[in-house]
Amino acid sequence: MNQTKTRFAPSPTGLLHLGNARTALFSALFGERFLLRIEDTDQERSRQEFVVDLMEDMRWMGLIWDEGPQTAKVTPDYFQSQRGEIYARYYDQLEREGLAYPCFCTATELEVSRKVQLSSGQPPRYSGKCGRLNPEDIERRLQKGLQATLRFRVPRNETVEFNDLVRGPQKFNTDDIGDFIIRRADNSPAFFFCNAIDDSLMGVTHVVRGEDHLSNTPRQLLILKALGLPSPEYAHISLVLGDDGAPLSKRNGSRSLNQLREEGYFPLALLNMLSRVGHHYENEGLMNWEALKQHFDISHLGKSPSRFDIEHLQHWQEEVVRSADEETLWNWLNKETRGLVPTQKKELFIDIVRSNCVFPSHAEEWAKILFTDELALSTELADMARQAGEPFFLAALDAAIAAGQDFNAFMSQLKTTSGAKGKALFMPLRAALSGRTDGPELVKLYQALEATLLRKRLAEYAGVAE
Ligand code: GLU
Repeated sequence: MNQTKTRFAPSPTGLLHLGNARTALFSALFGERFLLRIEDTDQERSRQEFVVDLMEDMRWMGLIWDEGPQTAKVTPDYFQSQRGEIYARYYDQLEREGLAYPCFCTATELEVSRKVQLSSGQPPRYSGKCGRLNPEDIERRLQKGLQATLRFRVPRNETVEFNDLVRGPQKFNTDDIGDFIIRRADNSPAFFFCNAIDDSLMGVTHVVRGEDHLSNTPRQLLILKALGLPSPEYAHISLVLGDDGAPLSKRNGSRSLNQLREEGYFPLALLNMLSRVGHHYENEGLMNWEALKQHFDISHLGKSPSRFDIEHLQHWQEEVVRSADEETLWNWLNKETRGLVPTQKKELFIDIVRSNCVFPSHAEEWAKILFTDELALSTELADMARQAGEPFFLAALDAAIAAGQDFNAFMSQLKTTSGAKGKALFMPLRAALSGRTDGPELVKLYQALEATLLRKRLAEYAGVAE
């Protein structure tokens, strides 16, 4: 069998967000070769900066295309706006063969016809009126300067069948599809026309795309058949719903990849989360790209829509952080945080980050707690520390001076001299040293703090000035 070739074909009218990133991801996971095509025929809505952004986002996520813009074969081929001549050839072919015809119906005429059909209980579809014009009628109208759309002549009473890799066998009767527009009156091509032609010409073997395109497929298959072009197989993936049950969009929880990147999400967290939305892997643990790809199974894609849950994303983010190496985490921290960490504390701090933080902003909070002089305790925590009493902190200060960096020695001396144990021992120390009751183990807090800062924080509740 030939290599499977899949593609992602975004229209550059906005930033890549979780919903369309998932479509791109499934395509990339499934295809042995992965192609990127920019569908920028809508000149008003397409913007060059979205093309730049989406390529950057895809690269960041690790969705690397083998064919497409900026690959070794640099041609304008992969931008639909540059392929007008190709589409024109196919329009001509269809017209020459009588498989497409100009339609002069005005918007009002079409609207009236639609209403009449609806009121008599019929599904609205084009009546085929202009399909019956003879060449002289057409010529006369064109001479008058009338604008025409180009309609595809749908064959009568035929069945279009295909086997969708997700949704199973599909069957459509062509009588339910009216002759449809393949070129608008302003000469711009209809999306599904160039989309189908390009998939075929570019050798795409499998189209993996959102279920919202399912109803375009029979029309696209008809076009390809009429042109004698090979058609790909299709896999229409279920939609992702937002927290309100509506398709995932920016309004209900989806976020742009750009935004997620800025918040410090790791691409691997996104990959692990998105590849499990509506698809399942036997392995429930964190997988790298190679494993995600190797074990991706299109037959594991569910038909019903899945809900997007930000907590899943956070779970995978945590998994990535917990298993990341020192270098990766260090580079992930923001500049300000890196600037606060003394060189000799770097390893320890990264260890703290790995087991306690999920975002660079958390790490920054801890860097400020551990390496700057400012520590503001809430009234509640300050009360707790005070209740432990000055003698307790005096004993702690004494133990810290005696033990230096040796946490075990510090604890054993403090236990003996103060008689405190369990929570009564740990909590006031945590409060005084970090201003928090959660976070790194006490031993790490103790070792991360510079001796002078450690003593100062203990002295504060010991009633002595250090
Ligand atoms: N440009 C279309 C879109 O962004 C592509 C649809 C398809 O994948 O076929 O919706």
